[in-house]
Amino acid sequence: MTIFKKLLYRVCKAIVMPETEYEGIPRNKIPWDPKIDYSKCTTCGKCIEFCHMNVFKLENKNGKKITTVNPNACVVFCRGCENICLSKAIDHPDETHTQTVINRLKKQSNPK
Ligand code: SF4
Ligand code: SF4
Repeated sequence: MTIFKKLLYRVCKAIVMPETEYEGIPRNKIPWDPKIDYSKCTTCGKCIEFCHMNVFKLENKNGKKITTVNPNACVVFCRGCENICLSKAIDHPDETHTQTVINRLKKQSNPK
């Protein structure tokens, strides 16, 4: 299975049941979530419509609309929403860094 097919499979699976772990590591320990550049975000709502994991939400804070993020609902290594944001306001962490963290956590949980 190609990397793309594997990712697509995991996204589809996560829609039914959000990932609580990734490769045996608790999801909340993995640094992978969309970062919003609020100087660019226009609160257009496209990311909310697009992401089936309900990672994004439009909230009212101090009388101002703001797009918020539920970080642990994001599918690890998915970048689907980056290209649909016309303002280029969405970015994700560096994949190599995230993979390094995952490898370290795997070693710690299974030292041999
Ligand atoms: S698609 Fe981009 S500009 Fe629109 S709400 Fe999401 S982050 Fe903001
Ligand atoms: S990368 Fe974007 S579209 Fe994919 S799960 Fe995360 S927030 Fe949703």
